[in-house]
Amino acid sequence: MRVRKIVNELDPYIPGRSQDEIAEEFGLKKEDIIKLGSNENPWGPSKKAISSIENELSSINRYPESDLSDLKKEIASYSGVNSSQVIVGGDGADEIIDILAKTFIEEGDEFIVPLPSYMYYEFLFKPYGAIPVYGKWNLEDNTLDLDSIISKINEKTKMIFLCSPNNPTGALVSREDIINILEITEEKEIVLVIDEAYFEYSEVNNVDLINNNSNVFIMRTMSKVFGLAGMRVGYGLANSEMIEYMHRIKPVFSLTKLSYFAALNTLKDKEYIEKSIKKGIESREFLFEELSKINSLNVLQSCSNYILIGIKEIGITAKDLSQKLMEKGVIVRDCTSFKGLDEYWIRVSIGTIEEDKKFLEIFNRIISDI
Ligand SMILES: *Cc1c(COP(=O)(O)O)cnc(C)c1O
Repeated sequence: MRVRKIVNELDPYIPGRSQDEIAEEFGLKKEDIIKLGSNENPWGPSKKAISSIENELSSINRYPESDLSDLKKEIASYSGVNSSQVIVGGDGADEIIDILAKTFIEEGDEFIVPLPSYMYYEFLFKPYGAIPVYGKWNLEDNTLDLDSIISKINEKTKMIFLCSPNNPTGALVSREDIINILEITEEKEIVLVIDEAYFEYSEVNNVDLINNNSNVFIMRTMSKVFGLAGMRVGYGLANSEMIEYMHRIKPVFSLTKLSYFAALNTLKDKEYIEKSIKKGIESREFLFEELSKINSLNVLQSCSNYILIGIKEIGITAKDLSQKLMEKGVIVRDCTSFKGLDEYWIRVSIGTIEEDKKFLEIFNRIISDI
């Protein structure tokens, strides 16, 4: 077929596996499966979000809001910015990435991303003719290699992606590194995207930068702490000029009515948000402590809701280990498809403490048999 050349060249994106898939493949019951593969909130969505969706069900014959002003107001207040500095995406933050590309990318433009990091930037940018240029994330001390980014900046650089906390390594990009990069990118008008999908778990953010730096874009999602991965809501924060340009090209009705109300009412449910963060951090600390007791593992300290684990010393690949875990009903992320990682890394999302314990038991049993 006469598809665009780039479509033939694209590598497929490999997402985490779903419970239905694994239940079917291994003959397991869906409710017995522990899903620690996609960094979701294991405690379920806000009750207020659920009832607001139920209330709206009978009006889904009508189009959703198009200007989203109540939601933007609520996001602005949550983030400490003005409504004019907010854009909301209807396929999660993933739509925000796509709008960034549509707004800024001309064919042949370069974007810089350290490896390993979130692979979806590349997946969404390549169709626009953007060229990925790779910097480096140091796995030894779990920090950004600042020079590996700065040395790649040239006239073709249009954007830089920094994920903080970084997915999959779990550590923050230091404020000092961000400032250093800003000093170079601002005058060159290179957009610096700081992906804060998990910032709540780190209790650190960089939103203040948008007031004084016209090239900073903060990206966030409601899929993680907010427990709405299935509703697909994301948002971005930047100076109002950038936001206005992005709105010119954003699909008008991409956020469904039900997602709109789910997002709005989760944001209003302060108790739910507070508890999700607190329980998430507790679970992470528990999981980290328990995993650290296993000597043969390289467990990276995390400020997020997942932990990256190097398993080379055990002498099994991530593909084989995650297969063994799936057979026992545990889904983790085999990180082989992350550029910048070899075939010996898995990423484990936090579960409820009960799920963590079950995971640890199964995991320990499997690795002692190898
Ligand atoms: C999950 C995630 C996102 C966005 O997820 P959506 O579900 O599309 O909102 C963005 N960046 C990183 C690093 C993520 O892990």
